[in-house]
Amino acid sequence: MLGKRVIIRHMSDILLLIGVILPPPALDSLGGVRQEFTLQTPYGPAGPFARRDQVLVLPYSGLPDRTDPRATLWAAKDLGITRIIGWDAVIGLNPLLHRGSLLVPDDFIDWTRHQPTTFFERRGLGYLPQMPAFCPQCRQALLHALPDAAPLGVYLGFDGPRRETAAEARLLRAWGSDVLGLNLVPEVILAKELELCFVGLTSVVEPGADRLPDDGQAAAEPSLSGEHSGEFRLALRRVLEALPGIAAALQGPRTCACGQSQAGSRSRGALGDDWKTWF
Ligand SMILES: [Zn+2]
Repeated sequence: MLGKRVIIRHMSDILLLIGVILPPPALDSLGGVRQEFTLQTPYGPAGPFARRDQVLVLPYSGLPDRTDPRATLWAAKDLGITRIIGWDAVIGLNPLLHRGSLLVPDDFIDWTRHQPTTFFERRGLGYLPQMPAFCPQCRQALLHALPDAAPLGVYLGFDGPRRETAAEARLLRAWGSDVLGLNLVPEVILAKELELCFVGLTSVVEPGADRLPDDGQAAAEPSLSGEHSGEFRLALRRVLEALPGIAAALQGPRTCACGQSQAGSRSRGALGDDWKTWF
């Protein structure tokens, strides 16, 4: 709990959701930790956030099953965040993606079934276009800083915390999914409702269950253990080295349309100026 301390709100408008297990010093290139805090929201507590010089950071892996993703998005909006970068460790369903491959997805499939996907549960609002699926300006910044990242691909949002079966991996690949992960959907949908930019950066940890060795040995919670082998560790380092440049590139004004996703509802008076009265 924060007590009576005042939360620093305006050092940066970027939130980095970290779905990859990292030792805390790994992020020191983004500046030292100025403050750590948890925020109470109508959807439960959010945090602990770490305020660094260039970004706000929230570890976002292995959350309790009942954590409401709306708490994180609501807190981000309340903290003055306008851009969210979700860095996720994922399963590579596309056989062209290998351990350590980077993908900046340009589309997603929501196959979550047990998570809230809207803030507008009591109102007939929230019927928002989902394309572009991820913020185009943020995607460009990521791809400029990480030129070896695959620039197009479909992220499949899965509930977890279990792994997919081999049959599911084949099904999801047949749907056109390239990677499977737990941490970007429904967050990207909720971000649109709050007019926040949201972009995903995915690091492939494992092949799909249909391509694992027959003994299934590699399926033992690789992304949650924090023990990373050589190629994956190198891939993490590439991202860590690129993060300061990405944060710097995204400090300027928004040139995307993400901040106008509710313009229609606002102009006809369905939504007021104070976003906290929207729900
Ligand atoms: Zn945007």
